[in-house]
Amino acid sequence: MDNKIYDIIIIGGGPAGISAAIYSKRKKLDTLVITMDIGGGLLVSGHIENYPGFIGKNSYELVEILEKQLKALDVEIKYSEVKRIEKEGEIFKVMANEEEYLAKAIIACSGSIPRKLNVPGEDKLIGRGVSYCAICDAPFSKNKIAAIIGGGNSAFQALESVSKYAKKAYLIHRSDKFRADPVLIDIAKSLSNVEFILNSIITKINGENKVESITIKNIITNEEYDLNVDMIFVEIGREPKIDYIKHLVEIDERGQIVVDKYQKTSCEGIFAAGDVTDRPYKQAIVAAGDGAIAALSAYDYLIRKGISPLK
Ligand SMILES: Cc1cc2nc3c(=O)[nH]c(=O)nc-3n(C[C@H](O)[C@H](O)[C@H](O)COP(=O)(O)OP(=O)(O)OC[C@H]3O[C@@H](n4cnc5c(N)ncnc54)[C@H](O)[C@@H]3O)c2cc1C
Repeated sequence: MDNKIYDIIIIGGGPAGISAAIYSKRKKLDTLVITMDIGGGLLVSGHIENYPGFIGKNSYELVEILEKQLKALDVEIKYSEVKRIEKEGEIFKVMANEEEYLAKAIIACSGSIPRKLNVPGEDKLIGRGVSYCAICDAPFSKNKIAAIIGGGNSAFQALESVSKYAKKAYLIHRSDKFRADPVLIDIAKSLSNVEFILNSIITKINGENKVESITIKNIITNEEYDLNVDMIFVEIGREPKIDYIKHLVEIDERGQIVVDKYQKTSCEGIFAAGDVTDRPYKQAIVAAGDGAIAALSAYDYLIRKGISPLK
């Protein structure tokens, strides 16, 4: 470790981290991004139709544009995994794979990963009918048969969106009790093209190049059968990537970092943005907006504290 102290270290290179880096550099803060990749969720998003200014292209193309922007602003990037952050006085020590770095403020943008079903066929058919984001992919279910897996608010919101496009939408849930709000359940029950399959789990997703059917097991009768579907929306929760920082900041019951409207966490000097936070709607544009706010708030924090070496 050299003794250099960055103004800001940003953890993560998805839309939140990239946006935070752009705003931080344009405030002339000494900025380091530590990330395992550039793009984050955009590396697996596929076709993007809802990012303003970017019309219906593959998300890789968006990542290329964002990479160019980081390069143009000469953002310093280290490709590494952050293992732990410690606060020592007003300074943060960031421990990555082999190295340690120091900073006056931290912006955590490490995202979250959707919980998978972990059944045969799932990985092979991601983006070919298997989706973890109904907000993103519901329009692709137009005139198709879709299955939504889950029993919480996300699953019911997904069901409502998908049922607008799909000719038939099944909600498949492992129990006959739901965690979703009663109002969402009532809406779902009123939809004519929706059918509930309860006390049931998915044991296999079938198809070569696209989803053709799913194998369902009733966990009470143990009966197994195949159901023809074209798309499957997995809405069983997300796992925020917080291991390196969870001892420093308040975390909610879903494992998300709690932030206020300035993206401040419960720990002074630590800000968080994007999917790792308790902000609703896990979307690239939301993450990018959060990242901008986090960088501007971190700038204000450094100025107020009088610990920024701004020339
Ligand atoms: C299949 C799929 C399709 C989607 N489609 C769309 C869509 O059409 N439109 C849309 O708006 N959104 C879509 N999304 C959601 C969107 O991708 C996310 O909301 C967005 O990427 C969140 O941005 P983020 O920067 O908060 O986190 P992420 O994009 O997840 O980025 C997290 C970053 O942190 C890094 N990281 C994590 N842990 C560490 C660590 N310990 N050390 C260093 N680096 C770390 C990762 O390498 C990554 O670079 C989709 C998501 C999925 C999964």
